[in-house]
Amino acid sequence: MQTVDILFLNAHVLTMDEKMTQFNLGAVAVTGDSIVAVGPEAEIKKEYSRKETVDCKGKVLMPGLVNAHTHVPMTLLRGIADDLRLDVWLQGYMFPVERQFASPEFVRLGTSIACAELIRSGVTTFNDMYYFEDDVATATANAGMRAVCGQSILKFPTPDAASYEDAMDKARDYIKKWKGHPLIVPSIAPHAPYTTTADILRETAELAKEFEVPLHTHLAETLFEVDNMRNENGIPVIPYVKKQGLLEAKVIAAHCVHIDVGEIRTLHHAGAGVSHNPSSNLKLASGFAPVSKMLEAGLNVGIGTDGPASNNDLDMFEEVRLAAFIAKAVANDPTSLPAPQALLMATRLGAQALHIGHLTGSLTPSRRADLILVDLSPVHNSPSFRRSADNAYAQIVYASKSTDVTDVMINGKWVMRDRQLLTIQEDELLAHAADLAKKMDAFLLEREQSVLSKLIALGGSMEEESFEVQVKVKIAEPAPIVRALTRNDIEVLYERHYREHDAYFFFDDPAQGRLRYREDDFVDKNGNVTNVRARLTLIGVKREGHFEHEVLLSRSRFLAPAANSLRFYREYFKPASEVQVEKDRLRWLIKYKDTEFYVNLDNVLTPALGYFLEVKSRTWSRKDAEGKSQLVSELLELLGVPKSETVTEDYIDMVTKG
Ligand SMILES: [Zn+2]
Repeated sequence: MQTVDILFLNAHVLTMDEKMTQFNLGAVAVTGDSIVAVGPEAEIKKEYSRKETVDCKGKVLMPGLVNAHTHVPMTLLRGIADDLRLDVWLQGYMFPVERQFASPEFVRLGTSIACAELIRSGVTTFNDMYYFEDDVATATANAGMRAVCGQSILKFPTPDAASYEDAMDKARDYIKKWKGHPLIVPSIAPHAPYTTTADILRETAELAKEFEVPLHTHLAETLFEVDNMRNENGIPVIPYVKKQGLLEAKVIAAHCVHIDVGEIRTLHHAGAGVSHNPSSNLKLASGFAPVSKMLEAGLNVGIGTDGPASNNDLDMFEEVRLAAFIAKAVANDPTSLPAPQALLMATRLGAQALHIGHLTGSLTPSRRADLILVDLSPVHNSPSFRRSADNAYAQIVYASKSTDVTDVMINGKWVMRDRQLLTIQEDELLAHAADLAKKMDAFLLEREQSVLSKLIALGGSMEEESFEVQVKVKIAEPAPIVRALTRNDIEVLYERHYREHDAYFFFDDPAQGRLRYREDDFVDKNGNVTNVRARLTLIGVKREGHFEHEVLLSRSRFLAPAANSLRFYREYFKPASEVQVEKDRLRWLIKYKDTEFYVNLDNVLTPALGYFLEVKSRTWSRKDAEGKSQLVSELLELLGVPKSETVTEDYIDMVTKG
């Protein structure tokens, strides 16, 4: 007779192994961190003597659940901004708040709170991606949980790295530090194809291969992402990442909502794991992942909650139930994704998707002792039928609640007994989180007070405040001006042709100024658009000054490249009204008396205002502006433009005045 540390007796054992074996009554023997034996209670009792016995009182004993995709520190951001589109939510709220608040302490606090929630709901393993992942790993190990912890890599500065080179160095050190830990599997996490570059994808895959660790990323989450990928690279997301060598690593791909059968085959061939995240996909209206097709193809598909700011909880019971329901609704077939298969996704398939199926996910001898007890006797789950092997799975998937989990063991150690957490003090953590929430509320309230601070909050390379010395004249015909530009005393540095589409945002408080989203379509000699550039300009309320001959010092302006769509800015800035102006612009950069000027010949098409000549020069100071105003006046003379036709209004003022 062999001696073991603990014998679990009097249990309904769901092993979730290859044969979906059940034992009722069953028993499980555990020694140290591992499962030694699983079988009918009578047999196990005969073969093993034990130091300690756990009477499971007829509850279900099963492997702990695997949350295949999440961002655990975001428990601290739960409920901060909801009912927004993914890009507005991420770039308008999450990234700015994280830039301001995310720190090692923030991440440890958020992770500890998440671990409390996860353990309470029967999760023993999760797959994470965030910043300061070293601190996520530390807090997770302290809570006694198992996790694959992915250090994020993005193409822009993040709370924990000034550049992606810096992030790569940190990731390497981080992986070295945690590799071989009994609970933590370190990984690298290039955030998504649209927040990284081809080089980043290649380098992260190389690093993952070098250390034989998983690579965690978001792929094909929205149709928008896939459309952009097709437009920019001519191929969908999965072929694109394959081209960068990403699939040579042990990939864990979150979402995969918009992929076709060919892409599913590619992922399967590469041995990639997928995390299906039904709540997140529903809440962000990302679409319906082809889960049944992925499973049919033999892919390891797990289930994840995604971050608690886009779910808004970490409840895997809810997630499994939703996964089954959605699959049925989408296929218009109630036999799709039956309960045993849904639960398999949340256990063994999930572990396999994380490339740690040899460690956890099923109650199998030699796997780690990651197991939970679920009480099936509460009123919402009574009575129990045992006619079919599937009855118990259906009870767990369709009627059990996370609060029915009574006991949790991870790596052979108890982390919850009889609903009491043993490794985490919740009260103190929640008080800290409440304090932080007040600070984050104040930060966002202050930011929302001004269009300028909202613009700054988006990050990116915004220019310093600038002005223009400018004059604008209504003209009948452009040809004489084009001819005049060939004069010897005017040096033409370049000539360009654009089609300009402007959208002006107006706000209830006119003191905020107006925000212009401008798209410049570069037109070549044959009239084809060769390039498109978008910029945002915040234009001040007041004219800054006035010189002779109606030469003006323009409104103050802040310029920034517009990396997002017009729709994004509309939803982010929420203007009170919006006006469009469209024009055809011939632009010259000229030098006159050692000073550079722009000469614009505009044909304003929408609304149809006709031809205008603009002469302008950028300036940062009023002193500099005085001298330039004199030169502008001279230039008008040289171009033969009648000063009596000078207008002092912007096109947009002409439009809004009707
Ligand atoms: Zn995610």
